This record gives sequence, structure tokens and C-alpha cells, in this order.
Amino acid sequence: MGKDKKAKGIWVFIEQFEHAALDISWELLGKSRELADKAGEKLIALVMGDNVEHIAQEAVHRGADEVFLVEDELLEHYKCENYTYAAYKVIKKNKPNQLIMGATPNGRDIAGRLAVKLKTGLTADVVSLDTTKDGIMLGQVPGFGGSVLAVIKCEVARPQMATVRPGIFEAIPIDKKRKGKIHKIDADLDKKYETTKLIKLQKVEGVDISKAKRLVAGGRGLGGDVSALKELAELLDADIGVTRPLCDDGLFPRDHQVGSTGVTVKPEITINFGISGAAHYTAGINKSNTIISINNDPNAIIFEYSDYEVIGDVNKIMPLLIEKLKAKLMKEVKQ
Ligand SMILES: Cc1cc2nc3c(=O)[nH]c(=O)nc-3n(C[C@H](O)[C@H](O)[C@H](O)COP(=O)(O)OP(=O)(O)OC[C@H]3O[C@@H](n4cnc5c(N)ncnc54)[C@H](O)[C@@H]3O)c2cc1C
Repeated sequence: MGKDKKAKGIWVFIEQFEHAALDISWELLGKSRELADKAGEKLIALVMGDNVEHIAQEAVHRGADEVFLVEDELLEHYKCENYTYAAYKVIKKNKPNQLIMGATPNGRDIAGRLAVKLKTGLTADVVSLDTTKDGIMLGQVPGFGGSVLAVIKCEVARPQMATVRPGIFEAIPIDKKRKGKIHKIDADLDKKYETTKLIKLQKVEGVDISKAKRLVAGGRGLGGDVSALKELAELLDADIGVTRPLCDDGLFPRDHQVGSTGVTVKPEITINFGISGAAHYTAGINKSNTIISINNDPNAIIFEYSDYEVIGDVNKIMPLLIEKLKAKLMKEVKQ
């Protein structure tokens, strides 16, 4: 679309799966309500799918001023060509100023495709989002290997686009008294233009550490041996988070990775073992209530983010912790 002075409104892509909106959609709508009020813009939800009118209604109850609802049986499941075509059609005609999507697998897919088709910029995986009063989006992303947090602006092209990872913002509660206009749009999709065919939908069971109440997290300081981390997680009834290198090395599947390209966590307590505190990692833990970090380097950056710091060797501290926790459990069993 390029530079367009008529571009108006903050739009949020409401991602759904099997007729239920993903939490990230409501988180983005909640944050965007605040941004729309600040910039004096309307908040618009874009809902696509088959039989999803109830989601459009919920979007109004959760803060949207208007909803563009695109329903078609070809939008039942996410297929990039159908979703991109339908979204492009609505966006090109209605010219949003900002367009915000979830950094989910499908959100990332459609965001990239749309940015190319619309000839605009996309700030991917923002960890914080703001707007100026005149509607310039300010997306914060970790850069240079995580050593800096950069604010990215897209001053000329429209819409200004961003993807945001799940778990960063809060949804606003449903208010059934809220009213908003729902525009029903014909997607004009044709099966003959489909290039992919859905043969089977296979649900993969994975862990979801974004809802962890307690988190024990390990980094490269563990020296590649994660057995003590697993034992501590079991003893503390905690979930396990790790830094990216541990996933890269195949020690844990990717859904355990905390950070800007992993999961954002908000536990009551996070305990970091042998983690340096790169911005890419701390972006994922800074909503924890209490952070305890164990590191043998007194100058480790992770201590700047911690409520309690323990300077020491994880190889000595973790076995001691395990021993103490086991002794406590034994005592409780005997009583
Ligand atoms: C685009 C991009 C995205 C990224 N996304 C993520 C992300 O989502 N999540 C993420 O985690 N990383 C991410 N990274 C990588 C990130 O920048 C860091 O490289 C990574 O977080 C470092 O992991 P670490 O702390 O385990 O390792 P290191 O930085 O190597 O730190 C190891 C720490 O262990 C301490 N240590 C060593 N031995 C011991 C011991 N015996 N006892 C106690 N302490 C010890 C050391 O003092 C050091 O502080 C990303 C990088 C890029 C470029």
C-alpha cells in the first residue's frame, strides 16, 4: 500500500483455532485498546474463519470499536493462501494505520506474506509496543545478539505492522454492555486457487510453560548436564525453562525455551541456574514475581534482573538443594 495519509485505525488480527480465539488475540486487543485511546484511533478487530461470528461479538466485548468479519468454509483451517488473500483484500480496501498480529506460527506466516504484498514494514517479535499520539507505532525488539533493545518505527509505509509474542500483554475482561459495529465481508475465495490440501490435522502434545507457577531455568552454565535441573523441577513441582543454546543443542524441545524467540513466563518464582542474562532471555522472564539467580560470575548481568543473587558454582549448589529438598520431603512423610 505504501505511504497513505488516509490510513486509519489500529487493527488486531484475531487468530482462532477450531472456532475459539487464541489467548494472544485478546492480549493484543487489550493492549491495543490502550494504544488506540492514546493515538485517538478506532480499535478494529479482523476476525477470519468459518462460523466465527461469536468471536467477532467477543472482540467487541473485549474492547474493539468495530470488527471486520470474514467467514468462508475455506477459512475453516489456516491455509496461508486463503488467509493472506482474504486479509489482503480487506486491508487494501480499508487502509489500517497499524496492524498487530500474534507471533504464533500462523501469525508469523501471514504477517510476513501480508507485509510483502502491502509493500510495508513489519517489526517482528516485539517485546513491548507503544504509539505516539499521532499514530506512529513504536515496537521494541532485542538486537545485536540481545545486548540492546531497539525501538523500531515505520514512518512512511502503511499499515505499520508488528507481531507480538504470546504472554506479554493482559487481556481486558469481557464487558457485555460494550457495543460495536460488525462488518461482514465476503472473502470471494475459490477452491480452484488453493495450492495446498489439508489431509490430516494432527495435534502435537507439548508443554506450555507460559502458565507455569514455578519455573526452574537452566543455561549453558550447567555444562550440558541437565539431570539436576530435571530433579529439582520434580522436587519443587516446577516447570522447566531453558536458554536458547540448550534447545539448539537438542537438550530440550523448543517449547521449553524462554525469551524473545521463545516463551514469555509470569511465574510466582523463577530460579535461574547458570544463565548469563542476555536481553533475549530476560525479555521472557521479567514478568516473574520473584527471580533468584545462581551464577559463578559476580558480574553476571542476570543479577541486575534478580531479587536474590547467589554467587557460586551450580555443580555444588544444585546437589545441595536437591539433598535439602529430599530431606524436607522425607521429614514431611514421616510426620
Ligand atoms: C535473534 C536472537 C534471538 C534469541 N532468542 C533467544 C531466546 O529467546 N532465549 C534465549 O535464552 N536466548 C536467545 N538468544 C541467545 C541469547 O542472546 C544468549 O546467547 C543466550 O540467552 C545465552 O544463554 P546462556 O545464558 O545459557 O549462556 P551464556 O551466555 O554462555 O551464559 C552462561 C552463564 O553461566 C555461568 N556459569 C558457567 N559455569 C557456571 C557454573 N559452574 N556455575 C554457575 N554459573 C556458571 C556463566 O558465568 C555465564 O553467565 C537469541 C539470540 C539471537 C541472536
